[in-house]
Amino acid sequence: GDYNRKIDYVFKVVLIGDSAVGKTQLLARFSRNEFSMDSKATIGVEFQTKTLIIDNKTIKAQIWDTAGQERYRAVTSAYYRGAVGAILVYDMTKRQSFDHMVRWLEELRGHADQNIVIMLIGNKCDLGSLRAVPMEDAEEFAQRENLFFMETSALESTNVETCFLTILTEIYRIH
Ligand code: GDP
Ligand code: MG
Repeated sequence: GDYNRKIDYVFKVVLIGDSAVGKTQLLARFSRNEFSMDSKATIGVEFQTKTLIIDNKTIKAQIWDTAGQERYRAVTSAYYRGAVGAILVYDMTKRQSFDHMVRWLEELRGHADQNIVIMLIGNKCDLGSLRAVPMEDAEEFAQRENLFFMETSALESTNVETCFLTILTEIYRIH
């Protein structure tokens, strides 16, 4: 069966961004199709894996989650080591979490490989009436910094699969 297929590639992707933006729930949704409103229920694990087929190649995505290391400069270089992709997550209802993307990006670029593929995510798009970050602001930032950009909802499953597939397909394309 599929579980016996040989793995062609292992791609490490790191999740970064402020606390409470939804990183852990995005990963739970992608890796296990689960969601929890109670973030305390999620125990900090180092990473989750999910195997997918892209272009008839078997790719194991190893997605790393910060287990409460979101304070500035608290994420260690071991976290970034070997990463070929990064997902920068902000909460589209919290302006500050978007403003902090500048320093998360700076920290990422200081640690990661030059050709790392980066995706900017505005999460919690199910809370549209509380929007604090106009889509144009994020699009402009993403364009200037050469990032992919999407809005997602881990709660409603919006764009979660698409987001991970997009970044993994691009990583595959350049490796
Ligand atoms: P992390 O600190 O970035 O890992 O954030 P968590 O994944 O723990 O999520 C923080 C809180 O936001 C939790 O209460 C989640 O249930 C909630 N949350 C995460 N994603 C979404 C989403 O897409 N929509 C809504 N409405 N809440 C979310
Ligand atoms: Mg978390």
